[in-house]
Amino acid sequence: MTIAGIEIEIERKKIKHTHLAVYPPDARVHISVPEDLDERDIRSYVASKLAWIREQRRAILALPRQAKREYVSGESIYALGRRYRLWVVETSSQAAKRRTQLAAKSKAPTLVEGVIAYGTRLTLHVRAGTSRRHRERLVESWQRELLGEFIKDKISNWCKKLGREVPLVEVRKMKTRWASCIQSKGKIAFNVGLARVPPHCIEYVIVHELTHFEVDNHSRAFVKLMNERIPRWVALRDELNDFIALPMKEKP
Ligand SMILES: [Zn+2]
Repeated sequence: MTIAGIEIEIERKKIKHTHLAVYPPDARVHISVPEDLDERDIRSYVASKLAWIREQRRAILALPRQAKREYVSGESIYALGRRYRLWVVETSSQAAKRRTQLAAKSKAPTLVEGVIAYGTRLTLHVRAGTSRRHRERLVESWQRELLGEFIKDKISNWCKKLGREVPLVEVRKMKTRWASCIQSKGKIAFNVGLARVPPHCIEYVIVHELTHFEVDNHSRAFVKLMNERIPRWVALRDELNDFIALPMKEKP
């Protein structure tokens, strides 16, 4: 169940009282409920606790947790606000060689290395003994691709709506910003870190940057346009900044 963009795990149990918890390291929200409680009641219960949930999530996500991810089976990987469970499949070098030869003969696709998402499972195929760094690179390139497709899709819709030309899009690593608009080149660069945040927050970033083509600062004129385009953009911006604590330079 998803409420206000937050994924809620529901577990039905033989219990009398509802129990709600937010767990580190990824601020997963879990609720245990009596077996016969209907979905509407669960929904309204969670909705009444939203402020508390947000506060817990904020605290957990703000904890320093860089370099914790090892890219091994069981870890959580986020993409477009969805949580995937990682499953690592290692192929020995002989098996990899055999498969590559077989694939060359039969022209059938074979996967020795790469990422496949199915449901909430993310299967990472690697050669046995692959380094952590290499696993990270494979997962990140999958996230980058997903993010790139999402952005291209949304940006063309928004450009149609705003009656302007679609800018060039680049997705790359950035340290202090979610995105930046390079007006002279008609280009917007997006932080690859956006791959982990919910889609509605990414959309806010897209509209924010598109609006910079008209107003290149955060003046009243900028705020006015943003209010027209996404009335609840302030809430989206706050949610975005909760998600990953970047040393943000921009605070429109
Ligand atoms: Zn800005």
